[in-house]
Amino acid sequence: MAPADRVLLVEDDPALRRVVEVSLTVRGYQVDTAASASTALELTEHHPDLIVVDLGLPDMDGVDLVSRLRTSSTVPILVASARDARTAKVAALQAGADDYLPKPFDVEQLLIRIRTLLSSQPPNGDPLRSSA
Ligand code: CA
Repeated sequence: MAPADRVLLVEDDPALRRVVEVSLTVRGYQVDTAASASTALELTEHHPDLIVVDLGLPDMDGVDLVSRLRTSSTVPILVASARDARTAKVAALQAGADDYLPKPFDVEQLLIRIRTLLSSQPPNGDPLRSSA
């Protein structure tokens, strides 16, 4: 059996963080949570298979966090934000995010996006990615 996919959830809202963490855990994901960008950068040492990033973080803008993550990793990044969807989406995608989900979101919708991103990845963290 393949090891569980590990998701790093970066979200400073404790209630939302908990809801998403529980939803992912019951579906068999290994979940690391971070309430700040600095914690998120530390937890990348756990080699997550996917990172969910909130844009409004206490210590760093989420777009800047995505840029930082992209300097060293091709891990799929899903940005979730309540910011004006059009401009925030462009900024997040330009920084290297793979997908953007406007808040408030339905958790089922988040799970579908996560599954889609993970299934488009080669197994076992192969850093080679399709350019398609
Ligand atoms: Ca936030």
